Amino acid sequence: MEKYYQPEIETASYEEIRRIQNEKIVKQVRYVYDNVPYYRNLMDKKGVKPDDIKSVDDIKKLPFLSKDDLREAYPYGLLGTDLKNVVRIHSTSGTTGKRVVAFYTQHDIDLWEDCCARAIVAAGGSDEDVCQVCYGYGLFTGGSGLHGGSHKVGCMTLPMSSGNTDRQIQFMMDLGSTILCCTPSYAAYIGESLAEKGYKPEDNKLKAGIFGAEPWTEEMRQGIEKSLGIKAYDIYGLTETSGPGVAFECSEQTGMHINEDHFYAEIIDPETGEVLPEGSKGELVFTSLDKEGFPLLRYRTKDICILSRKKCSCGRTHIKMTKPLGRSDDMMIIRGVNVFPSQIETVLLKEGFPPNYQIVVDRVNNNDTFDIYVECPPELFSDKVAEMQNHEKNLNAAMRSMLGIGPKIHLVAPKSIERSEGKAVRVIDKRKLH
Ligand code: ADP
Ligand code: ZN
Repeated sequence: MEKYYQPEIETASYEEIRRIQNEKIVKQVRYVYDNVPYYRNLMDKKGVKPDDIKSVDDIKKLPFLSKDDLREAYPYGLLGTDLKNVVRIHSTSGTTGKRVVAFYTQHDIDLWEDCCARAIVAAGGSDEDVCQVCYGYGLFTGGSGLHGGSHKVGCMTLPMSSGNTDRQIQFMMDLGSTILCCTPSYAAYIGESLAEKGYKPEDNKLKAGIFGAEPWTEEMRQGIEKSLGIKAYDIYGLTETSGPGVAFECSEQTGMHINEDHFYAEIIDPETGEVLPEGSKGELVFTSLDKEGFPLLRYRTKDICILSRKKCSCGRTHIKMTKPLGRSDDMMIIRGVNVFPSQIETVLLKEGFPPNYQIVVDRVNNNDTFDIYVECPPELFSDKVAEMQNHEKNLNAAMRSMLGIGPKIHLVAPKSIERSEGKAVRVIDKRKLH
C-alpha cells in the first residue's frame, strides 16, 4: 500500500490542484508587489499590475528573475518580509562575494520540511525508521532540509552531516539506519567503503536512499542500489526555492513529482523565453506560491528538463519532471559545489595569469576530479620545478578561496593550450552525467 505524508494534497485531482494554485498565486503576486521593491520595479517596467494576475495562466505576463537579479539584489533586495520575522538563512555553494542568500520565516521552514517529509514517506519512510542524514549541515540546504523532513515523519534522525565515513559506517551498522540521505556520489562512496571493510549489502539494515543535489545517471542508481542493497530515490531542489524537496521521486522511479501546491513550474525556451507546452524540453522556471521570506516569481533555474502529467502508478497526481538533462548556462557541479568557468577566469586574471586555460572534470571511483591547465606567462615560466610548484600552490589556494574547492593546477608552457577558431573549449567534462 502506497503511503503519503499529506495524502489529500498529494493525490488531489488536477482541478483541485489548479484551484489551490490559482488562489495562492493571486495572493503571492500581491504580496511580492507590496513587499519586494526590486520585483515591483521589474513588474512596473513590464507594465504588469498584481490585478492582472487572476490565475496561474496569467503567470506568463510576469517578468523572469535570474540568478543575476538575485546577485544584484544581494543581500536584502528580494527579502519579502521584516527581518524580525526571519528565523534562518541558507546560501548557495561555491560563489564568493555575492552568494545567493535565501531567507526563511518559520512558515517557510515548515512548508519546506513538509516537502522533504513527503519525499521520505514516498521512499517508504515512517516513524519506525532510522534516517541517517549525511548531506552537509550549515549554509547548504541539504542537511537541514532532510533533517526537518525526517523529524516531521517521526524517524529517529541521525544528524551526521557529510564526511568522516568511518563514523558514518559505524553509526549505520550499530544503530541500524534504514534510510540514507546524501549526495549520490557520497552514497556510492559509502557503498565502496562498506565493501572494503568486508560488509556485504545484506549486512546493513538500509532499505532506501534519498539522493540529490547533483546530477546522477541511471547506471549510477543501479550501482548504488546494488552496493547498498536499497532502492535509491532522486530528490531535486535549489537554495533559491528553499532547498531539496521541490520535487521527489516515488516508487515508480520515472521522474520526480513537483510539490505543485507550493511551486508552480513552467518550461520555457531558454533563448526566447517562450513558454513551451507540456512534454517539451526546455528550461525549468519556478514560481513560489506561498513563501514569505524569499518569495520568487518566475525564477529561471537554468536546469533543462521535461514535465509530464502522465498518470503515475503511485497515485500521486502532481506533475513530474525528468532528472535535469543539462543546463542552459555553463555551471558545473563539482563535488557538490557550483562552479562557473567565469569564476576561474576571474582568479586567473587577478593572480596575473592569462585567461588561457582548460578545465577537466572526471569521475574516478565515484569522486569528482577537478584539474585546471593554465598557460604560465613567460615572465613566470621557469625550468626550476620548485618554482613552478610554488606558483601552482598559490593558484590552488586562490581558487580554493573563490570556489570553495581546490582544483589540481597544472601550469603548462606559454601558448601550449590549443587555440580554437570558434568558441574556446574551456571545459572538458568526462563524467557523462546526462
Ligand atoms: P542545493 O543546495 O540543492 O545543491 P544549489 O542551489 O547549490 O542547491 O544547487 C541547485 C542545483 O543543483 C540545481 O539547480 C540543479 O542544477 C542541481 N541539482 C539539485 N538536485 C539535483 C538532482 N536531483 N539531480 C540533478 N541536479 C540537481
Ligand atoms: Zn508517482
